[in-house]
Amino acid sequence: MPRIARVVVEIAVDKEFDYLIPDRLQDEIKVGTQVVVPFGHSEARGYVVSLADSSPHAAKLKEIRDRVGKKALVEQNILDLARWIADYYLSPVEKAVRTVLPGAVRRKGSGFKERLMVFPTESATDELSVEQLRKKAPKQAKALDILLTGKQMFLAHLARAAGTTTATLRTLEEKGFIQIGRSAVRRDPLADQEVLHTEPLKLMPQQEEALKRVKQSVDTLTPPVVLLYGVTGSGKTEVYLQAIQYAMDKGKGAVVLVPEISLTPQTLERFRGRFGDCIAVLHSSLGEGERHDEWHRVHEGKARIVIGARSALFAPVKDLGLIVVDEEHEPSYKQEEAPRYNARDVAVMRGKMEKCAVVLGTATPSLESYANALKGKYGIAGLPHRVDHRQMPVVTVVDMRVEAEREGHPNVFSRELIEGIQRRLDRAEQTMLFLNRRGFATSLICPKCGYVAECDQCSVSLTYHRQSEELICHICAARRKVPSRCPNAECGDPSFRMSGFGTQRVESVLAKLFPKARVRRMDSDTTTGRDSHRQILGEFRSGKIDILVGTQMIAKGLHFPNVTLVGVIFADMSLHMPDFRAAERTFQLLTQVAGRAGRGDVVGGVIVQTYTPFHPAIQAARRLDFEGFYDQEIEFRKELGYPPFGHLVCLTLRGPGEEKVAFSGGAFMKELAPNLPPSVVAAGPAPAPLARAKGLYRYQIMLRAPTTRVMTEPLRKVLQSFRWPKGITCAVDVDAISLL
Ligand code: ADP
Ligand code: ZN
Repeated sequence: MPRIARVVVEIAVDKEFDYLIPDRLQDEIKVGTQVVVPFGHSEARGYVVSLADSSPHAAKLKEIRDRVGKKALVEQNILDLARWIADYYLSPVEKAVRTVLPGAVRRKGSGFKERLMVFPTESATDELSVEQLRKKAPKQAKALDILLTGKQMFLAHLARAAGTTTATLRTLEEKGFIQIGRSAVRRDPLADQEVLHTEPLKLMPQQEEALKRVKQSVDTLTPPVVLLYGVTGSGKTEVYLQAIQYAMDKGKGAVVLVPEISLTPQTLERFRGRFGDCIAVLHSSLGEGERHDEWHRVHEGKARIVIGARSALFAPVKDLGLIVVDEEHEPSYKQEEAPRYNARDVAVMRGKMEKCAVVLGTATPSLESYANALKGKYGIAGLPHRVDHRQMPVVTVVDMRVEAEREGHPNVFSRELIEGIQRRLDRAEQTMLFLNRRGFATSLICPKCGYVAECDQCSVSLTYHRQSEELICHICAARRKVPSRCPNAECGDPSFRMSGFGTQRVESVLAKLFPKARVRRMDSDTTTGRDSHRQILGEFRSGKIDILVGTQMIAKGLHFPNVTLVGVIFADMSLHMPDFRAAERTFQLLTQVAGRAGRGDVVGGVIVQTYTPFHPAIQAARRLDFEGFYDQEIEFRKELGYPPFGHLVCLTLRGPGEEKVAFSGGAFMKELAPNLPPSVVAAGPAPAPLARAKGLYRYQIMLRAPTTRVMTEPLRKVLQSFRWPKGITCAVDVDAISLL
């Protein structure tokens, strides 16, 4: 009989503590039970993560004070997953445990919302007594009539509807016509939406084939993971829906992950329409109460399917049959704070631990997933055609160097793009203009020839550091002075400048070029209001806007039949991010953006403006040729040992004084280096591309190796003993995605 419970306390201490289980709680304490324990001079809440017979500190153990709630909140499987996350991503266990359990469920004081409900009794349908009531108390009778049009009502609603008070209704209760009782009301995030039920569509042959593969995985786990690689509009969602139905028919549950940005009402409607109340929604923009209730519907088994962003992966769905990760290539699946997990990768892990099939869907697979498919580790199902057999858009690449040459100076808009927009305005068609302004302008680009300084060792753009007037490679820490003129021998232009213009500038130039056009901008500045996102898109959909200018916010999943032109203002911006995935991101973005054009009856056009028209990512995007892009890009990754051929761990140090940050980074490296096996390539500390943020200096240490283990094991050891000076923090990012 285990008498000792190991508890993770909800305060940031990366340790598990042993407590004695008092006799009175013996039967109630299980793995996952939330408990109150003495901690220091006060008490703390925590979770039981395991039970044991003995403890090395047995003599000194304190007793658990109490338990919280009636049921264990975290099941063993979810705890195991949290442990795996803590271990793989070098994160404190308690942070991982907190990640798998939403705050709305965990927090003190969270609970169901109860309201007073009114139900009719049998006397309510007894005609004689009701007739009498009508004579004596017409108001009460009216309330009863209203109540009888349904089965039950909130007390407050009924009082309002009948134009009376709750006291009057209490009298009605005393007379025995109605019953008033407490009832937990569900705070339903989709309550205001009328959702029409939909039936499964008859699948196209390509979808049929894909569904067959997924079903096979659900049945036999061979292969356990299927990469569903289908162009935009190829009907992936319908395949997910029918695969989920298949799992449900076998009595199993499902989890669907979509990027936060695609978790739109339209997306939710498609799932709600097919599965009704059986589906629960979990995402961060829900109210606390809604999240609490949705989570409990899953926990109690009332909802068997969960859809949501990243953290929905940890929903306590029992007997899981299928996990779908839509847009698996999306960088937003990576959490940017500890634990820095990638939901796509953890989904594959959860699938493995719970013997459940995983589908990774995308129009532009990540190199990692595609490589896994080619290796045979994942199965692959392709949907190469659009469902409606519409043609893919025609992509034109415009060389901005030629433009600058012709005009005598660099411009925001090329002649092609201006003409294209004018033509759309004349025909009352719509245009979307896209400017990827992710991050900030960090690279130097020659406006005349498009030259961008790159590290010769690492093939990433050098980052411009204004303070020191230097170009720095943040992978190998090489530094160079900023050249006074363009280093391209054929150019030598002295007007080397920072790349980058924002959406605002684009908007103001548009206003001058097309004074009559209705232009709207959509980026993180114009969409701060809770509803502004939907509002702008609504206006665009209904034709009140001619030209929509935006960041990647407008690149995803939106369907506007009247958009026949998509312009990419400056494709180089993402290409020259100081990141070895820059080409991959650019290809993905261009392909996504191109997918927005011509979803209606007219073949769409895409105009891509660039200074590097012959870059493989841009050329491949022009041909909409993922395989071609992959073949080239994979060679480069292989040569330098970048993912998928290796793993990357990025340590970011932050602190108020630059010297101290650099110095403690150096001291840490000195301790770490002797512990690293020869297979690990280590570099830094060097100033991060984002060298200063929120008043703190940032330095990075980069580690690269064929597996994560060879890096994380020595790291864990050194991190445990190393004492960072006061004010310096160190963030560890395993399988880092953003390298800023
Ligand atoms: P994707 O997710 O691959 O971008 P969708 O699943 O959104 O594609 O499908 C695009 C459109 O085609 C949707 O409007 C969808 O309802 C429709 N569709 C999908 N499959 C079929 C089918 N088998 N028959 C008819 N319409 C379909
Ligand atoms: Zn370098």
